[in-house]
Amino acid sequence: MKNRIEIRDIISAKGLKVTPQRMRVMEAIYKLNNHPTADNIIEYIRKTDPNIGSGTVYNVLETLVKNDLIKKVKTEKDVMRYDGILENHHHLYCIQCDYIEDYKNEKLDKLLSKFFKENKIDNFNIEEIKLNISGNFIIHKNKDH
Ligand SMILES: [Zn+2]
Repeated sequence: MKNRIEIRDIISAKGLKVTPQRMRVMEAIYKLNNHPTADNIIEYIRKTDPNIGSGTVYNVLETLVKNDLIKKVKTEKDVMRYDGILENHHHLYCIQCDYIEDYKNEKLDKLLSKFFKENKIDNFNIEEIKLNISGNFIIHKNKDH
């Protein structure tokens, strides 16, 4: 969890103006932690700032994505979700409860990069390899389920 000063520094390090809206959206993404949707973010911010418009939040999200402060995560259900963790990681996606958990495994990363070094894909340069592993958590993690 990042504090407000850290968030401010992250935003200004990208040469962006630190606005209260950008601060709030970043805070919401870190706080919500489970790869929130735009609606989750809007709902969260409205608890303290009931007047924030959804258009504003969508615009801020676009700006943050464009400036590599957050990443978009496409889900099976085609709902866009947002990720505040920029380091390469994989996702475990629960088909039943929609929960996305980060999955990091160095052994897997080594295996994958070794594989693609030995099995080059024609006419394609790999930038990053992110796996989306879908399945079911045995014990569900989403509090609504
Ligand atoms: Zn993630």
